Order: sequence, then structure tokens, then C-alpha cells
Amino acid sequence: MTDIIQLLPDHVANQIAAGEVVQRPASVIKELVENAIDAGSGNIQVVIKDAGKTLIQVVDDGKGMSLTDARMCFERHATSKIKAAEDLFSLQTKGFRGEALASIAAIAHVELKTKTEADEVGTQIKVEGSKVAGQDVCVCPKGTSVSVKNLFYNIPARRNFLKSDAVETRHIIDEFQRVALAHPQIAFSLFHNGSELFQLPGTNYRQRITNIFGGKTNEKLVPVNEETEIVEISGFVGKPEFAKKSRGEQFFFVNNRFIKSPYLNHAVVAAFEGLLKDKSYPSYFLFLNVDPKSIDINIHPTKTEIKFDDEHALYAILRSAIKHSLGQFNVAPILDFDRDANLDTPYDYKNKSAEVPQVEVDRNFNPFQEENARIHKTSSNSYSSNFKKERRESWESLYAGLQTEEIPKQDTNFREIEFESEEVTGNLFQPSEDTEEKSTFQLHKKYIVSTLKSGILVIDQHRAHTRILYEEMLKNITVSAAVSQQLLFPLKLQFNTHEVEIIKQLKDSLEQTGFVFSEVKTDSVEIVGIPTLISESEVEILLEQLIADFENDVPDNGFSQTDLLAKSLAKGMAVKSGTLLNNTEQQHIVNRLFACKEPGLSPSNRSVFVTLTVDELDKKFM
Ligand code: ADP
Ligand code: MG
Repeated sequence: MTDIIQLLPDHVANQIAAGEVVQRPASVIKELVENAIDAGSGNIQVVIKDAGKTLIQVVDDGKGMSLTDARMCFERHATSKIKAAEDLFSLQTKGFRGEALASIAAIAHVELKTKTEADEVGTQIKVEGSKVAGQDVCVCPKGTSVSVKNLFYNIPARRNFLKSDAVETRHIIDEFQRVALAHPQIAFSLFHNGSELFQLPGTNYRQRITNIFGGKTNEKLVPVNEETEIVEISGFVGKPEFAKKSRGEQFFFVNNRFIKSPYLNHAVVAAFEGLLKDKSYPSYFLFLNVDPKSIDINIHPTKTEIKFDDEHALYAILRSAIKHSLGQFNVAPILDFDRDANLDTPYDYKNKSAEVPQVEVDRNFNPFQEENARIHKTSSNSYSSNFKKERRESWESLYAGLQTEEIPKQDTNFREIEFESEEVTGNLFQPSEDTEEKSTFQLHKKYIVSTLKSGILVIDQHRAHTRILYEEMLKNITVSAAVSQQLLFPLKLQFNTHEVEIIKQLKDSLEQTGFVFSEVKTDSVEIVGIPTLISESEVEILLEQLIADFENDVPDNGFSQTDLLAKSLAKGMAVKSGTLLNNTEQQHIVNRLFACKEPGLSPSNRSVFVTLTVDELDKKFM
């Protein structure tokens, strides 16, 4: 038998390696920017076109490369950063594998211009699919400029795998923010299709965070500082009252490298114990410095996980450092360091339940009387078929209790009863055979119970209202725009660039639902009109929730985007469990629910109501 094993040609090996290093345009940016940082640059400019699919260019003012190095840098395992295996344990640079440029050049058209301080002229080299396509001298300033065009031109499968421009841009912004946060002393800028997304001057950590996440961030930051033998911690945590609905602003850096660590994240959250609202996430920007020997640096180039020698100690130090800072800055309630240590064990705190105070709401009191009168005018005519005039006043108070706390699920003993549900369709209610009130009542401020000819109907009030608003919202976005209420004073909300990008993407649809934006800047938006169904005080929470929903579930096409938007807004605007509803409000929900296309399911596909027929009741009494 003949020998069959061969060494792969370099360009094939490079392409394979590229699959590991370059997953999407954002990975190219990460590699190029890290090279620029390693080259000692003071100013780094990133320019992208079409989310990096057409062009990615990184220009730095670092030390540049000699002519020979400029040729060498595209070879695999060509690096100036380590010489021997021992160097891995004292690594001060971001790169060390010598793989990035070789990989990128294997799957794109790359043009490099570079000049060192000492050289009179620079070198220009073009590499396409690992082959040098041209080399020349050029006139250029000291530093390096790498432009990468037509990424994945020779790997169509990869190209097709790329997501929409909006999604790829988000990945790029994420990557950009991470390196920019880790190196505040370096000036960074990012341009996309000719418009400036970031312009960050060289500064300190605090200012860099503020420049990235918007003007008001500064007041929200609490400094954290701790020096121990195994770790030096510096950075900031966000004050608890500014905790977000999404995990957006959570950053750990270890030796200036962005990392993800669920374990350390837990330590931070544990330090915030008792200070956060339910389902909100603290922001943090924490920089850990450890001895390079104590971490496994040989991590995968694109992975952000890291292995520490002494994770448990790190956990404890981090948590107590943050607790200390929160206490010192008077944001923590009285800290009791002598209490039962068991209460502090990290994995237990979630299971503790809290007593929710019961608040009785005066259902006739309505602080938003004026506004709701308007809600009424605009939205009632479309569904008021069997809605009597004299009931209107009380319907308005549906919105009075909107902010009431949700009552805990276990609070209902109704659950113990088993229902057998039965197909129920829209004609359950013979449309107004009599205009007299059908009797309904509210159970546990959570369910609306109504009688049917054949039994009883139990409706989840929140899900029902969500379904109603969801269908209305979809109609507004796709068919006819909703009316909006004008605000007396424009409402200015601060967001970070990334959040503003999401709002921009949704702006048209949001305007169809009644929002009117007067200004969208890079770190804030100004709103002059809002949907009639919400009050001004709810806008910020609603938009925050919306952004969080879009961060968690990135829709790929216009249809699912509209759908997610309608779902998110409906969920936020719907009357909550725990809200007292008067009779008219209850019936109004019932009537509107059964005018819906799909009354039986909430937008997230959960049952809206159950029925209990007389037959079933009879069986229970046998
Ligand atoms: P690594 O960063 O792991 O060494 P790369 O493939 O990213 O590998 O880069 C190869 C080499 O090219 C680097 O070691 C460095 O010497 C040189 N190089 C790359 N980018 C730059 C730059 N922007 N400025 C100066 N030298 C650079
Ligand atoms: Mg590199």
C-alpha cells in the first residue's frame, strides 16, 4: 500500500486556523485592535463598512513594522511577542500566538501599510487568500494601518452564516467597548458607514466609562479598590438604584483582558444582596490584576473564559470589597458583619422569600384622571360595542393601580383545584343578547372569574390584557398608526450607544405605536409624544425592558422584530397581577379578550383562561 499522509499546504492550514480565530467581523476587529495596543499605540481608529462585511480598517500610531517584519507577520506562528514557552508565564501582551494576521489574510483581501520611526518610507503589502498580491514602498505616517476587505470571500458558507448588519454591528460595538474600557489611556474612535459611533479621548477609567455609557453614568458609579496578595481589584460598581433590566453593563477584566465569569459575577451579585429590585442586574466595571502565573493564559483565542488558581479566595475578596464600597458610600443598609455566616453562603440567598406587604388601593382614586380621559377618547371607540357610557369613569381607574406589586404566585390556593380545560372559541359570549352586566368577580387580584352558560371561566387578568394590547399593537405597527399623546415637556432619557442602536433600529415601529422622538443622539433620546395607553413615568421602564428583550432575543427579520416589539410593549403595559379591577374593568377585559383573534393564548403562548363546566363540577360532587 502506498503512503497517503501529506502535510497540508500553508494556505489550507491557515484557512482551517482562521475558522477558529475569525468567527465574524467583530473577531477581526478584536485581533487588529489588540495588535495595535501591543504596538504601543496612543491613538487607534476603527472604520467599518456594512458591519465589517465590506471593510474593516484599523489605523494606529504604534511602533510600526520594518519591511521584513511586514512580510513576516502574515506567516503562521510569526510573532514578536514570545520567544520561548516560559514567556507564556510573564505575558504582558494581548497576542502571542502569531496566528491572527495569517488567519485573516487566508480568508479576506488584506492591505497593510506600516512604517517605523526609524524608516524614511513605509511598506505596503497586499495579501489575498494567503498569497502576496503586491508589495511596494509607500509614504505613510509612523504606525500601522490594516484594512480587511471582503471577509470570507472564499468561504461562502461562513459568509452566509453571518447575521444581519444590525446584529454584526452589535458584536463589533461589544468587542470595541471591551478593549476601549480596558485601555482608557489610549484614544479610540469607531466609524460605521461614515458616521461616528464613538470618539473616545485618552483619559482615566472613570471618564472612559462615562464616555462610553453616557453622561449620567458618572454619578452612578461607586469606586471599588482592594489590594491583597493574590489580587488587586479596582474599578466601579453601579449604585443599586440604577440596576438595569439587562446584563448589558457587566465587565470583568483580568490583567486588562475582558473575561466572562459566572462565578465571579455571582460574587458581585452576592455583595448586592438585598439592595436590588427583583430581576434587575447591577452594573459593574471591575479590573482585576493577578500574577500571570496564577491564571491559565493559554486560553483559546476567541474564548473569554479564564481559569484561576484560587477561585474561592477571589470570590470572597471580591464580594467583601464590593460590600465595603457600597457601605462606605452609604448605599447599603446597615451592614451586619456579625450575623450568621450561613446567611451569606453564596448559593442560598436566592431561596429566601420575602413577605410582600398587602396594599389596599382606593380604586376610585386616579392620579392620572386627566391623561386617562384622553386615553379614553382615542381608544374606546374601536371596541365599545357593548360598553355603556356610564361605566366609563370607572374603567379609567384600570390604570390607577398599574404600579402595584405583583403578588407572589404561591399566594393563590386556587391552584389546588384541577381544571380540565375545554376548547373555547370566540362565540362563548353571545354578542349582547342582553346588555345587562354579566357577573364577574376578581379572585386574588389576579384572576377574573365569569360565568358561562355551561359553567365558569377563569381568566388570568395580566395575560388577557397582554393579548389584547399585543393584537392592538401589531395592528398599529403594521396597518394604521396609533394616536399619541403629546408631552408638555420633552422627556430626555439617557442610554448607552449600544442601547441607542437598538432604539434606532426600532424607531419606525415605535413611532407607529405612538412614540414621537424629537432627537436621537449617541447617548440619549428625546421623546415628545408617547402612546395614549401609558403614562410618562412608565416610559423609561418600558423602553429599558424593550431593550433588554431585544438584547436577549435578536430577531433576524422584520416580521419577528415587529412581533417581539409588540410582545414586549404589551407585556410592559398590561395590567399586572395584584391590581384591583372594578367590575366594569373586568368586563371590559373579558369583552375585548374575546374580540381578539386568539383569545386563548398569551403572546408567549401560555393559557389565558381555563373553564370549568357544570359537567365537571357535577363530577366533583359525586
Ligand atoms: P500575535 O499578535 O499573536 O503576535 P499576529 O498575527 O496578530 O500575532 O501578529 C503577528 C506580528 O505582527 C506581531 O507579533 C507583531 O510583531 C506584528 N504586528 C501585527 N500588528 C501590528 C501593528 N499594528 N503594529 C506593529 N506590529 C504589528
Ligand atoms: Mg495579535
